[in-house]
Amino acid sequence: MSNVEAHPAEIECEHGPDEPVAGRPLLETITSREVPLGGPRAMPVRRTLPQRQRSLIGAWCFADHYGPDDVTVTGGMDVAPHPHTGLQTVSWLFTGEIEHRDSKGVHATVRPGEVNLMTGGHGICHSEVSTPETTILHGVQLWVALPDAARDTPRNFEHYVPPVVTLPGASLRVFLGALAGSSSPVHTFTPLLGAELTLEPRAEVRLAVDPAFEHGVLVDLGAVRMAASDAEHLDLDRADLGYAGTGVSTLTLTNRTDEPARVVLLGGEPFGEEILMWWNFVGRDHDEIAAFRDAWEAESDRFGSVEGYSGTVRRLPAPPLPNARIRPRRTPPSTRPSDAAR
Ligand code: MN
Repeated sequence: MSNVEAHPAEIECEHGPDEPVAGRPLLETITSREVPLGGPRAMPVRRTLPQRQRSLIGAWCFADHYGPDDVTVTGGMDVAPHPHTGLQTVSWLFTGEIEHRDSKGVHATVRPGEVNLMTGGHGICHSEVSTPETTILHGVQLWVALPDAARDTPRNFEHYVPPVVTLPGASLRVFLGALAGSSSPVHTFTPLLGAELTLEPRAEVRLAVDPAFEHGVLVDLGAVRMAASDAEHLDLDRADLGYAGTGVSTLTLTNRTDEPARVVLLGGEPFGEEILMWWNFVGRDHDEIAAFRDAWEAESDRFGSVEGYSGTVRRLPAPPLPNARIRPRRTPPSTRPSDAAR
């Protein structure tokens, strides 16, 4: 998926402290903003990362939630070939299918319950189109920033179908990392967690999580209470992203409705590097981003080309770079200062 904002800002993403500091875990709600995506009728998506409030959860640097959309109304997804650098894209669907084509030569169908992880690394380009058979489109598109040592890695694509793990009151699929005894073989360059959980009506599930991670709970369906180490809680509505900082060893999720609820749980160690995001690129400074943009506009081999995409636009043009450098923004720490220090 592409960021198709006409004038995307450069977003300098700073990380919280590497070591947890004393104090209670930090909990906060990140609400979504609606952004039009590509496609015949600019299908809307709900974006929770990056935001002014917080731009990274572990290495997770981008989170779009969309649907359930009636494709006859929204026109579905049709994103022409566009580039990526320095990141991985993680596609996860609840309903519908997307046809993926990339410049590694991969032609794949993204299906519900199957993770597709594309590594941009040095440079890749791809197209994403909902299939003609798709009537309802519903899913998430997530990006993972690559650490400096790996961000020049060759383009790659991985596919994995996680088993369904059944817990009292819930079922889950772990597509990245490990949770509740299930672990994904998909390689990541930093410690990460990605899982889908479905909660039965009114069910409560307690999950043992890595206290070195910060976590995010993105609510897809229902209304969910998120409690960290039994200390405090957030009441989250659909499309909200609940954030819990490091130092949390138990996450308790409660479905507050009489219907099933569904969330995507993200986690990772605080990223530990400052990154700059602009359009579909992750870099480290403005000049590098400008060079990535120039390379795409020059149709450089850096990104390769996509075969078989048949949309009306051959490739997405890069938007103009902002005239002025965007001032750095400070991401709040992943733990709260101790009460004594406040
Ligand atoms: Mn993309």
